[in-house]
Parts: sequence; C-alpha cells; structure tokens
Amino acid sequence: MEKLIEPLPWKGPCPCLPPEPLRTWESLGVAADVLRLDRIHPDWGGNKWFKLRHHLTEAKRLGASTLVSFGGIYSNHLWALASAGKAWGWQTKAFLTGHPPSTNPLMEKGMSCVFVSRGEFEDHSKIQSKWEQAGEYWIPMGGSGLLGIKGAATILNEVDLRPYSHIICATGTGTMAIGLATQILTHQVVWGLPVLKNWALAEEQKFRFLPVERQKNLVWKNRDNMGRYGKAQPALLDFMNQWQAQTSIETDFIYTGKLFWAVDQMIKEEELEKGSKILVVHSGGLAGNRSLPQGSLRF
Ligand SMILES: *Cc1c(COP(=O)(O)O)cnc(C)c1O
Repeated sequence: MEKLIEPLPWKGPCPCLPPEPLRTWESLGVAADVLRLDRIHPDWGGNKWFKLRHHLTEAKRLGASTLVSFGGIYSNHLWALASAGKAWGWQTKAFLTGHPPSTNPLMEKGMSCVFVSRGEFEDHSKIQSKWEQAGEYWIPMGGSGLLGIKGAATILNEVDLRPYSHIICATGTGTMAIGLATQILTHQVVWGLPVLKNWALAEEQKFRFLPVERQKNLVWKNRDNMGRYGKAQPALLDFMNQWQAQTSIETDFIYTGKLFWAVDQMIKEEELEKGSKILVVHSGGLAGNRSLPQGSLRF
C-alpha cells in the first residue's frame, strides 16, 4: 500500500515544498506560510492527488481497468480522477445526478458518465451493488473514507511542522483536515473551514476515524458569511481578484478563495490571536473556476 504508483507524478521532493512565507498579515502580528499543493498539477494536483494516491495504488495492485466514483459535473474530485485515469491508463466512470449538460467536461476528458435520479444518487452502496462490473475499482465520493484520510495525512510528510500553532484548510468531506490532524504535534490545532452549509459528513468522519485523544486538535470553523457551496458572490470574487493581485496566489471560488478570505477575516477580527504562526494549505482546485462566467476573474 505504501508503494506509489509509477511513474511518480513529480521527481524529488513534492513541488509544494517548502511552504512559502506570506507577509500579508505580518503587521497584524500573524506569521503565515502557504503549502502550495496547487503547484503539483492543474488537473490532478491539489489535495485530490493525496486523497487518491492510495486508491490508485490499490486499484493497480488489484489489476483494475476502470476507476469509478461519484460527484457533481464540476466536482474537483471527478476532474482529478478523469485526469489521473487518462495520465496513467485507466478508464474512468462517474455516477452523477441531474440533467446531462450540453457540454460535459468530464466526458471530454474521457470519463463515461451515468446520470441517475436524485433519489437513486443518495444511496451510493446501492448504486454500486446494482451497477458494479468486473475489473472496476470503486472510490467513495470526494475520495473520502480511510484510504483517503491516510493519503491526505501524507500531505505533511515532508513539512517541518514545529514552527506552527495552527494548520488551516478548506473543508468539504473533512477527509483532508482529518488526515492533517493525524500528523500534527499535540499542542497544535487544525482548523477546517467548511464550505458546505452542512458539514455532517466531516463531523461523522472525524468521530469515526480520528483517535479520541486527537479529536480536540481538529476544529471546524464555520463562517456563515462565506456563502453557499458553488455560489460565487461578488464580494468573494472581489476578494479573490485582490488577493491574486497582492500575493500572486490564484484561488478557486468554491474552496481556497473562501479559505484565504476567512483567514483574512479571522486575523482582522483577532479570532486568530496575535503571535500565531499559521500554515495555510492551498488545496488546489483551480479547475473549478471553469464553471464561472467568463470575465469573473482577472487572472
Ligand atoms: C475537494 C477539495 C477540498 C475539500 O477536501 P475534503 O477532504 O473533502 O474536505 C478542499 N479544497 C479543494 C481545492 C478541493 O478541491
């Protein structure tokens, strides 16, 4: 399981290393570094690579020919899966709900797409037992579950964690944040910023997979003003444009734009105390901006 699939997606240390200093909040008394997982690859980079790596290894070990998963038409998880499948020679297949769109970016990547009713989509294990075929390897939605968490834990493998008080990341299924929380030192804390209105899956996974003595080291920091998942409010797009102009860091409107926006607010509101040294995980996801109307972003 620990052995990576070949070829490695990068040579030598991860292209996200070392974390880059961010001077933005120095005058407010907060030192920050950014871990640039977005540097790994525009399509299958970001946290999706880490959540998929053990699944890909397992699929290879089992000799599977097709990778199958669930998600939305613009989901970064399916995009990463379609791209990784194409790069390493697997066929890919996804189950989605809703109406097939007139242009389907996943199909253009070579992924076959099966659209099921909203009711049927709710029960993934039922879909699997109904549709599963020989040679397929099935991956939970968003790369969640134990293998995803173990993969996400390796995000911090080569990072010197000692300087930091907080590790901060965007949260969907919670898989990444939980993986990070298995790696930190006992006095440190992971702040996961939920981008969904409902982060029940993150909470459920936390209690299911994180050892009890570690659970206090992972805190969900919900911000009500961050807007609904998938909705790009003008204030967020303004922040993302300014942020890119100021720091050269590009973000996406679903996860990392909200992440940096929330961190900025929490520092200004002193929810993050002066004297903190934070590591912000840029989890990639820039491909998600494809679904924005043209011209929304200046980068
Ligand atoms: C998928 C994704 C997340 C959410 O990760 P979870 O492990 O589901 O919490 C965060 N950021 C980006 C850019 C993503 O694509």
